[in-house]
Amino acid sequence: MKIPTPLDPKAGEPESTEPRLHRPSEIKAYLDKYVIGQESAKRAVAVAVYNHYKRILSDHADDLSDHADDDVELDKSNILIIGPTGTGKTLIADTLARFLAVPFAIADATTLTEAGYVGEDVENILVRLLQIANYDIYKAQAGIVYIDEIDKVGRKSSSAYITRDVSGEGVQQSLLKILEGTVAHIPPKGGRKHPEQSLIPIDTKNILFICGGSFDGLPEIIGRRVNTAEIGFTKTLAKTEKADEILKEVIPEDLVKFGFIPELIGRLPIVTTLNHLDEADLMRVLLEPKNSLVKQYKKLFRMEGVELLFRKEALQEIIKLAIKRNSGARALRSVMESSMLDLMFHLPEYSEDRVTKITITKEFVLRGKKPLMRRSRRSA
Ligand code: ADP
Repeated sequence: MKIPTPLDPKAGEPESTEPRLHRPSEIKAYLDKYVIGQESAKRAVAVAVYNHYKRILSDHADDLSDHADDDVELDKSNILIIGPTGTGKTLIADTLARFLAVPFAIADATTLTEAGYVGEDVENILVRLLQIANYDIYKAQAGIVYIDEIDKVGRKSSSAYITRDVSGEGVQQSLLKILEGTVAHIPPKGGRKHPEQSLIPIDTKNILFICGGSFDGLPEIIGRRVNTAEIGFTKTLAKTEKADEILKEVIPEDLVKFGFIPELIGRLPIVTTLNHLDEADLMRVLLEPKNSLVKQYKKLFRMEGVELLFRKEALQEIIKLAIKRNSGARALRSVMESSMLDLMFHLPEYSEDRVTKITITKEFVLRGKKPLMRRSRRSA
């Protein structure tokens, strides 16, 4: 039997090389190159992914051997990541998929409805995965799906989200099926199923589902359960840090209170939380990841023969502006882009005008003042 997972994309010929599991430490090291902070989540996810593929290998081994002790079935380790907007939930899932070289699809839980309602069928998530896998069913069946805003199908009390489906429970039931492993029959192009249409069977048993959400209101639920005074909060902790700390205490019961059906929580055995990113973290986000914004801008400028430098105070201002938008690191890109737009617009002219170095200052970010520019001497 062919193992439907590229266990080691770098191992060369899959036929000639024994598939090798990536160790948690290797997975974590890769995540470290792209995801700043979030240490405990990265570790949890690395172990979960390791176990996920170990489970697939073990299924495969069971097919081949008849060991008496091989009737122990390993549970699927889907992951729930709880954390504020723009702190790396999608980034972690995406980076993992890239590392493993498996198809990766993102779904937004707020658009999902149970079959028969207006909106997207839960099974359409699989259509997207199949499309991304270029209709290679084998590949799709070993892919990763990130379901964003999962918290929005779990809200019993908040009326803002209950427009289509009275409790979100129908969606949860549908999600439950694909999360636990089922053979879904999907229309190849998505949309509604027609009776005459030929459907593609997709087995979700080996698809890793990562669900994420900000879970507003969850810290309060946890707080009511545990006595906050006892777990060492002091007045010096900022509100966000306090929420981060308290979220770490989450147990399945809290998620049920939040509005999830226990069966669905049971199918998300790995629960991990992300922290808010503070100013220092955001500075690292700007500078350190392999494809950080600062590195990307430098490259864009270098392509026109211009060296781009950022003063530290300039980056600090960008961070302050981003923090005001309250969407974590996500706002960094838009703040950066609007700051840099004018400069980018004129870059070809500057480059022609012998500008070789541009330094972005605080005044440039705050008041749109011209950045510092250095020109080369006119060549003879
Ligand atoms: P969410 O937690 O809402 O899913 P994302 O993972 O989509 O947020 O983050 C949005 C963007 O912000 C990412 O594409 C990335 O550029 C940046 N970002 C967020 N968190 C981190 C982080 N921990 N490390 C590095 N970049 C981050």
